[in-house]
Amino acid sequence: MTDAHNHLQDARFDGIRDDVIATMLEQGITQCVTNGTSPDDWLKVTQLARQYPDLITPSFGLHPWQKPSADWYEQLVQALDSTPRACIGECGLDRWMRNYDTELQIEIFTRQLDLATERNLPLSIHCLKAWGMLIDILESRPLPERGFLLHSYAGAAELIPRLVKLGAYFSFSGYFLHTRKRHVIEAFKHVPAQRLLIETDAPDMQPPTQLIKHHLPEEELNHPANLTAIYTEASKHLDTSMVAANFARFFHH
Ligand SMILES: [Zn+2]
Repeated sequence: MTDAHNHLQDARFDGIRDDVIATMLEQGITQCVTNGTSPDDWLKVTQLARQYPDLITPSFGLHPWQKPSADWYEQLVQALDSTPRACIGECGLDRWMRNYDTELQIEIFTRQLDLATERNLPLSIHCLKAWGMLIDILESRPLPERGFLLHSYAGAAELIPRLVKLGAYFSFSGYFLHTRKRHVIEAFKHVPAQRLLIETDAPDMQPPTQLIKHHLPEEELNHPANLTAIYTEASKHLDTSMVAANFARFFHH
């Protein structure tokens, strides 16, 4: 089983990380992508990928919630150059956050997008309430040949064919299994089977209570081993038969 998007480097796993990862392995999770969110956590991502090379694919990105340092781009290039199998992300656009600066977000996102295109690297995109802006950018510049990932996609069903045409993969998170998120499952039915991925976004995006098989000391946090239950439940609604092949094609080809 493959987790297309988590944050195992997150400080909320400090002190319990190795136990959490041991549980993931016991539950049959074979591969995951661990996403850094700013230069401050990239080293931790690198170290984890070194410690668990079969399980963890490292990804480095500057998330729209993080403040950019003056040299973040140089640091990103250096992190990519010095880390085998590294991807770019999590990055993206967010108009849900408070006091967002659209210009700055666009600049930071497009630099990461352009770098992914130049090197044809897997790119993981976060987008909240900024779909028009994102589509404008994606439709107006060269994109990575391998495509790109829209993580925890919660955009409109109508946008899916346009995004598919641009090369999008879509990852489904356990959070979407809440009854109030039913419309997201309906939208995901428009995603072609060969573009579907599954993710936990752990330690965030907790699935509904009945699907939580693994707990963390802080009750509201999402254990990445919940992926197993998310898969089973998602498979009742969506064709997940190609998820493993999609993961391999997108992240490791
Ligand atoms: Zn994330």
